[in-house]
Amino acid sequence: MEDRKNAILATPNRFKNYIDGEFVGAENSAELERESPAHGKVVSIYPASTSADTERAIAAARRSFDSGEWPYTYAGDKSRILRYVAQRIRDDVDELTLIETLESSKPLSVARGEILFAAELWDYAAGASRLLHGDSHNNLGGDMLGVVLREPIGVVGIITPWNFPLLILSERLPFALAAGCCCVVKPSEFTSGTALKLAEYIHESGLPKGVCNILAGEGDPVGKTIIESDHVDMLSFTGSSRVGRLAIQASAGNIKKLSLELGGKSPSIVFADCDIDAAIDGVLKAANINMGECCIAGSRLIVQDSIAELFQSRLAERLKDLKVGDPFDPASRIGAIINQVQYDKIASYIDIGVKEGAKLICGGDGSSYEGLYFPPTILADVRPEMRIAQEEIFGPVLSVMTFKDVPEAIKLANSTSFGLAAYIWTNDLSTALHCSRRIHAGRIWVNSALAGFPELPLGGYKQSGNGRETGRFGIEEYTEVKSLHLQIGAQSERWVTDE
Ligand code: NAD
Repeated sequence: MEDRKNAILATPNRFKNYIDGEFVGAENSAELERESPAHGKVVSIYPASTSADTERAIAAARRSFDSGEWPYTYAGDKSRILRYVAQRIRDDVDELTLIETLESSKPLSVARGEILFAAELWDYAAGASRLLHGDSHNNLGGDMLGVVLREPIGVVGIITPWNFPLLILSERLPFALAAGCCCVVKPSEFTSGTALKLAEYIHESGLPKGVCNILAGEGDPVGKTIIESDHVDMLSFTGSSRVGRLAIQASAGNIKKLSLELGGKSPSIVFADCDIDAAIDGVLKAANINMGECCIAGSRLIVQDSIAELFQSRLAERLKDLKVGDPFDPASRIGAIINQVQYDKIASYIDIGVKEGAKLICGGDGSSYEGLYFPPTILADVRPEMRIAQEEIFGPVLSVMTFKDVPEAIKLANSTSFGLAAYIWTNDLSTALHCSRRIHAGRIWVNSALAGFPELPLGGYKQSGNGRETGRFGIEEYTEVKSLHLQIGAQSERWVTDE
């Protein structure tokens, strides 16, 4: 892998778009360069697609869908194609891991885990395709049978962010394909490599041309063209609340269906009766994995006041063992921040927090590192109305608050406009269940952090979005439901009578 890494650092990967079954550059040959945040060198070059390129991709998906070929393909055949892609992802795990690590600077082991999980998602969707079915109603009287059909919704636009590039795409694309949809995919302009590499496996898999189109480029024009298109029936958007709102406005044009996965400010709630060592590890993992650039980051610690001081000091002590540095060093847990803009945003929130009255316990200053590295940071004495308790920072920053009893813990947990995830640490089953039921979040972990399974759906409450991805609910999201009313034999009554 070292040789291959050096080869890419010397000569960057050059990727093409995949439109209507062909690998092509942007119509005007423009390109985007991506520098590795950890190395400061260009590692990938992608087409800087235009609005016209995007229209072409949408038209290809539209033609494919309207031809009926893929929607009516037998699920067993769909399944074989999706399984093929899963296997190719596994075969190419080293190369995909390398691309992901170089483009994003996430630690190599994290990238590798994501790629292997992405393959699981393609496998799961392959199975889900064969299990997708509607319903029947045999209780509508002697001469009426009701059949509920699930049909693919149509052309789906999929727009993804930079933090878990292939993983987030694999939570969506194979499910949409498994349902029989045709897709136009736009990965983040910072991390498009693995999505464009995926196109190679899709091309080899035998998926009919035009069913899946993947193109790189900036949010405006590529994403903008997708969200505004009248030929796109559904949009799956993952990213910031700002662009999510634009997508909602744009959806008014043709009333397209939206599945939105937006920001979060998820709490780790630590009760005094928990296993403290396990909770410390879990809280640190939830707050800092992927440098905190994680939509479900446990970025608020809500700890019971009787153990708050002890927990906070042990947390800070343990943080010292968290290695910040070269993502290719197996010991590194924290790689570089994705870009200068994000780095500056994280640093600015430390100032905001301190000015609001929070106490900096550790971290907070990345100036001693060379490059875009930011140390894990803890801010204590945080009050729920502070900006560092309300706004998504998307960096390794933990805001600490305390609570007295269960009702206060729940109130604090629910005190933001987001509702993506929550982590609960307690050895009392009743407390765990009580909190799990009352916290407004799409995913809850009890005495664990971030375990993920293709079987379980993900998505947000409140301003974290709507719709669900993965699991049975994930594939159903990409379907329309149609009711068939089947008369058996002659109707016993006429509407127009002889009198
Ligand atoms: P972003 O919203 O800036 O970009 C996301 C995608 O939208 C990118 O592909 C981008 O090119 C595109 N885009 C930008 N402007 C657009 C426009 N005008 N029209 C259409 N598309 C446009 O988000 P980001 O900076 O890539 O990612 C960070 C954000 O994503 C965070 O807020 C994070 O919480 C969120 N996120 C959420 C989840 C989730 O599952 N809930 C997962 C990962 C990231």
